Amino acid sequence: MIRRYSREISIGDIKVGGNAPITVQSMLNTKTTDVEGSLQQIADLKNAGCDLIRLAVPDEKSAEAFKVIADRCGLPLIADVHYSYKLAELAVKAGAKKLRMNPGNMATDGEHIKNLVAILNDYNVPVRIGVNGGSLDKQFKGMSEDDALVASALSTADTFEKFGFSNIIVAIKASNVLTMIESNRKLAKVCDYPLHLGVTEAGTLKSGLIKSSIGIGTLLEEGIGDTIRVSLSAPVVEEVYAGKAILRALGLRNSGVEVVSCPTCARTEIDVQGLAEEVERLTAHVTKPLKISVMGCPLNGIGEGEGSDLGIAGGKEKSVLLKNGEIYKTVPSEILMQEFMALLEQFI
Ligand code: SF4
Repeated sequence: MIRRYSREISIGDIKVGGNAPITVQSMLNTKTTDVEGSLQQIADLKNAGCDLIRLAVPDEKSAEAFKVIADRCGLPLIADVHYSYKLAELAVKAGAKKLRMNPGNMATDGEHIKNLVAILNDYNVPVRIGVNGGSLDKQFKGMSEDDALVASALSTADTFEKFGFSNIIVAIKASNVLTMIESNRKLAKVCDYPLHLGVTEAGTLKSGLIKSSIGIGTLLEEGIGDTIRVSLSAPVVEEVYAGKAILRALGLRNSGVEVVSCPTCARTEIDVQGLAEEVERLTAHVTKPLKISVMGCPLNGIGEGEGSDLGIAGGKEKSVLLKNGEIYKTVPSEILMQEFMALLEQFI
């Protein structure tokens, strides 16, 4: 796949666009004013492999809390601001390394943007112009939704550019997957801004994963997209696992664990789903690229796990552990996970 050319933008010490690796983002669902809770969620996201984290700044108290969180967490944080340029200014001064604004709910006249540009330049902070299907600026009503989304994003970007500001990332999101794909294809053709991809309001873990995989995955496979967020009505770490899995499936990220498991059949001797989920949970922190197979019987599971770095072919009484695709050890099934974790530790 040939990646679309985009200009490189810095968010603190993380690069987005150009030849930089495609990053995975998520957003806290704690109250920003809950400093300890937010710091804990940031730590969980970081542990899951999240590259960039966004926090909402809905009021001045949140801007104050943002500063404390940014100072203590040591990661570049993104501030999400709606409706208020005053809050945007406070968030940047509080240490945001990127500002997300939605032109559908903020005035986009020259004066407001001119003032914001001065602050963004002072603090060397990029802006993400994030347009959503659900909050389109009225002036673009009457156009097809794809065209309206593109026009809204570009019109706001043009206003920033008029004031000499080009430190811009653009996101067009829609809950309709086809609209999200088509509008990003159109946008990708007419600008070189790094693009943030996501299907908004994608839904629960199951439906959201399907929609996001199709929407984000289709575009990434076409070389479009520089940073992604899988929006889910689920614990935030699931967004990160999903984002990393999409990148891995497309060969765009070679880090972390890929768990492959069999669909089970009449020969199954163990709880494959439970075991595979446990392996995923226990290896979420591993950054080394690893393929781990979890198979439901020793009979075929050994052969089917051949392409894996590590594997489990589970049996009722005894299970087989695989290393580099070969039988490593046969262990009593009741201590399978202890033995597997010992092997994993030794391997990494
Ligand atoms: S690995 Fe074993 S249990 Fe799993 S699908 Fe294949 S034959 Fe069935």
